[in-house]
Amino acid sequence: MPNISSQQDSDTLKRVEEQINILSGILDRGRQHLRFPGRLEQRYLEFRNQRFLEIDQKIIIGGLLFYLGFSWSDFYLGGDNANLIFICRFLVTITMFCLLWWVPRSRFAAHMVTVAASGIFLAGLSVIFFIQLIPDALKYAYHLGLVPIQVFALVALRLSYRAMLVVSVSLLVCYVVMLLFSDTPPLSPELNSIVEIFMPLFVLFWLLLIGMGAYLAYAIESSARNDYMKNRLLALEAERLQYLTRRLHLLSTTDSLTGIANRRYLEECLANEWRRCLRSQTPLSLVMVDIDNFKDYNDHYGHQQGDRCLHDIAQGMASFCQRPGDLCARYGGEEFIIILPDTAPGEAAYMAEKIRESIVALAIPHETSEHLVATISVGVASMIPQADSSSDDLLRSADRMLYQAKEQGRNCVVAA
Ligand code: GH3
Ligand code: MG
Ligand code: MG
Repeated sequence: MPNISSQQDSDTLKRVEEQINILSGILDRGRQHLRFPGRLEQRYLEFRNQRFLEIDQKIIIGGLLFYLGFSWSDFYLGGDNANLIFICRFLVTITMFCLLWWVPRSRFAAHMVTVAASGIFLAGLSVIFFIQLIPDALKYAYHLGLVPIQVFALVALRLSYRAMLVVSVSLLVCYVVMLLFSDTPPLSPELNSIVEIFMPLFVLFWLLLIGMGAYLAYAIESSARNDYMKNRLLALEAERLQYLTRRLHLLSTTDSLTGIANRRYLEECLANEWRRCLRSQTPLSLVMVDIDNFKDYNDHYGHQQGDRCLHDIAQGMASFCQRPGDLCARYGGEEFIIILPDTAPGEAAYMAEKIRESIVALAIPHETSEHLVATISVGVASMIPQADSSSDDLLRSADRMLYQAKEQGRNCVVAA
């Protein structure tokens, strides 16, 4: 029988309710959230990281293979620097593959998004570097290579609006710096004027892409955070309900004064054990206990002290119910019943005697009693349940034995 006043349970319930209040408060305010307060942010980042490892890691591996696949263009357009470009491309890819394998297994596992963002930035930077190495006008083909990298940054970092924005803007800044400070290859006047028009348009187009991507990533991240919050709230509500159900069950089955099972639960368990022993044809034993001269105890020490005495004796007896199925319950007033399933009469009588001795050993002072300490009288009955008998027969038998124990002078055990 679990303890009804389990401090741990009520502490957990308090913690769960506090979290529910915080989450409900955030949801009620109805704003878009890109940062949660306190530990919730930490939990969300862990959850996002987990999702990243499950889904986005594969997207990044796909992107890296795509990036490496473009080596053919290095050999096709790279001229004298083809080998150097290919080696750089290969090194970037291999470094990223190693990081993708190692980081989730290291203590930096929580920083996967940062690693992915750095990898995408590195890939973009490498393309900007390649543009410098391509000898002639063919380098303009590599400018276009920055577009899929930017689109990839939007897709892979869609759940982290800030990381996406930092990578995209940094790449664009590096690109513009490269445009401003690198030599333009000699072109025909017509091509030159096309490039002059095309370049600012390309930067504008890129800026637009970043703007739209930022808006999209913002919307995706805030909706992902909202979903996370709602799911978390649901999980917490379920946890709360579980605790409340457990508490309700404890309240409805426990006797508040003694902390042991109440009569309702006793009847439920007795009926169950009766049916079980009927099926298995094993003996079911019942120990019925009544405190001796308890009216006198109350009169002498007062009702409150009587309550304390009841509690101590009940707890003392309950400590003997160690096996699954054993149950110690308050039957009424100062009477108790112990159910002992699969217990033969001899064993039950032996246990009853041990219980009686243990109550004497508690040495609860009882001046008006013959023994000067509180004592109990015990009746023991056992039965192998039959279809034509009922658990009431067993109860009646135990009650008769208890009556005999009282007749025999109290503080003793009588077994049927
Ligand atoms: P006996 O040895 O024959 O059992 O004598 P007794 O005085 O114990 O007689 P009985 O069993 O009839 O006494 C029941 C007493 O138990 C009466 C009542 O004052 C007391 N009692 C019952 N429930 C409670 C309780 O919840 N708290 C306290 N303090 N006393 C209770
Ligand atoms: Mg009584
Ligand atoms: Mg009594």
